[in-house]
Amino acid sequence: MKIQQLIVGGMGVCCYIASCPATKKAAIIDPGGDIPKIIAAVRKNGLAVQSIIATHSHPDHVCGVAELQAAIATPFLMHQDEATFLANPEISHYFAMFGMGEAPTCDRTVVDGETIAVGDEAFTVIHTPGHTPGGMCLLSGDDLLTGDTLFVQGVGRTDFPGGSFDKLMDSIQRRLFALPDHTKVWPGHGYGGSQSTIGAEKRGNPFL
Ligand SMILES: [Zn+2]
Ligand SMILES: [Zn+2]
Repeated sequence: MKIQQLIVGGMGVCCYIASCPATKKAAIIDPGGDIPKIIAAVRKNGLAVQSIIATHSHPDHVCGVAELQAAIATPFLMHQDEATFLANPEISHYFAMFGMGEAPTCDRTVVDGETIAVGDEAFTVIHTPGHTPGGMCLLSGDDLLTGDTLFVQGVGRTDFPGGSFDKLMDSIQRRLFALPDHTKVWPGHGYGGSQSTIGAEKRGNPFL
């Protein structure tokens, strides 16, 4: 899988364009704004987008989904538990805060262990609750997209609705740190850096 990282939106979200070199099929992960920039990158590389995926439903990661779908008609995926969480009316005020009328509609839900095809390649879903109930990381070969679960030298906040520090720690320690040390970490924000490895985070992340 080829991974391209773009920093988008007012919150500095790391959006990813993941593509299969053989078929030029692609997935867009966390389109949190700057949609023209994302579309330009897709067109420049001659990619056909198969899916839009959210690592979790926070507005900074999904606020560009509707605009992106208007330009590139393609299904929007998230974890099943996140879709349930997002359907709760109490969560919707976050979208108003970000100037969004309503949350984007999820077209397909996925669960832990499920694969999402990207041409001849695929992501495997790793459910990592803690930052949100249905947060997930996406693994393809040595590439791991960690959303707001694990950052370079940091971890996601757990003080938002549905957050749990214990669950976040369990997700990172039991699921992510079980992966080989050389696994590349692609975070949901570049607070401490834009790329790392599981081994570097095991050794140096002050939160773990
Ligand atoms: Zn978040
Ligand atoms: Zn975020």
